[in-house]
Amino acid sequence: MIIILKPGVEAREVRNLTENLESQGVTVNPVYGTELTILGLVGDTSKIDSSRVEGNRIVERVMYVAEPFKKANRMFHPEPTAVVVQGRKIGGAELAVIAGPCSVESEEQITLVAEEVKQAGAGFLRGGAFKPRTSPYAFQGLAYEGLRLLKHARERTGLPIVSEIMSAHDIEVFADAVDIIQVGARNMQNFDLLKELSQTRKPILLKRGLAATVEEWLMSAEYLLAGGNMQVILCERGIRTFETYTRNTLDLSSILAVKKMSHLPVLVDPSHAAGKWWMVPALSKAAVAIGADGLMIEVHNDPDHALCDGQQSIKPEGFRELMKELRAIAQAVGRQI
Ligand code: PEP
Ligand code: MN
Repeated sequence: MIIILKPGVEAREVRNLTENLESQGVTVNPVYGTELTILGLVGDTSKIDSSRVEGNRIVERVMYVAEPFKKANRMFHPEPTAVVVQGRKIGGAELAVIAGPCSVESEEQITLVAEEVKQAGAGFLRGGAFKPRTSPYAFQGLAYEGLRLLKHARERTGLPIVSEIMSAHDIEVFADAVDIIQVGARNMQNFDLLKELSQTRKPILLKRGLAATVEEWLMSAEYLLAGGNMQVILCERGIRTFETYTRNTLDLSSILAVKKMSHLPVLVDPSHAAGKWWMVPALSKAAVAIGADGLMIEVHNDPDHALCDGQQSIKPEGFRELMKELRAIAQAVGRQI
């Protein structure tokens, strides 16, 4: 961290600020210019509140040399992290493909889709049991019954399960029923939930918030890592922009940014990004081409009658076709499915 002081500050005031900063465990190296004084902070600055420092009357500006996320930072962990789920690596040469319906609707539906996506080559089954819906009148998910049906689908197909948690009260139930706990976009900055999840040793799929910067997203990952849960997988799912044609705007450049800034694996969810089923195949291919570690795709056997997100769900036959095309792209970029 670098602190630029206002011109003409008194030595006594610089000394006070220096003592205050050093009491927080860093070493302060001052540089006295003809007009400005600059303080260079060396050591662990993670506990220093930069906005408070910036509020100090003698401070002109505070600049970060290193990002505020430490454990998620590639600088301190150059090797990419692979999260291992039931013997499958997420973040290695093999791409992770998570597929399934937006919501678990019935035993027949989840079993059918699970078998279809497994046959097509998906590595994981998704299905929402607790749904974060904009309208309180919309289908809210089958809740615990949904988790039971997902467990059943796992027994039948062997596919590890990914499902979204909404409340910290359900962590124990999720730890038993699912293999990867999803934190949805709307809860990316639910810090109490993140802190509780940091205490589990379950892999967490952390979706990017609706309007979160890449740095805010990585700071949320930092909450999980700081509490000791190192099994974190990121997922870009589109962000809010002025564009209304699509549900969100898929920010593919965030994959490049995350790869540069962090060692954590990152997936792309083209379904929630586009909100249109016919865009899903092309966006999936683009995501693999750009270096995403995998995909999360909504697949429904009867999208016209889906209880949630049918408009962005592809059918099992479309998914099968897409998987074939993805194999060729994966191979071209040195990955496999
Ligand atoms: C979902 O995956 O079903 C979901 C609600 O996604 P998001 O949190 O990205 O909106
Ligand atoms: Mn959905």
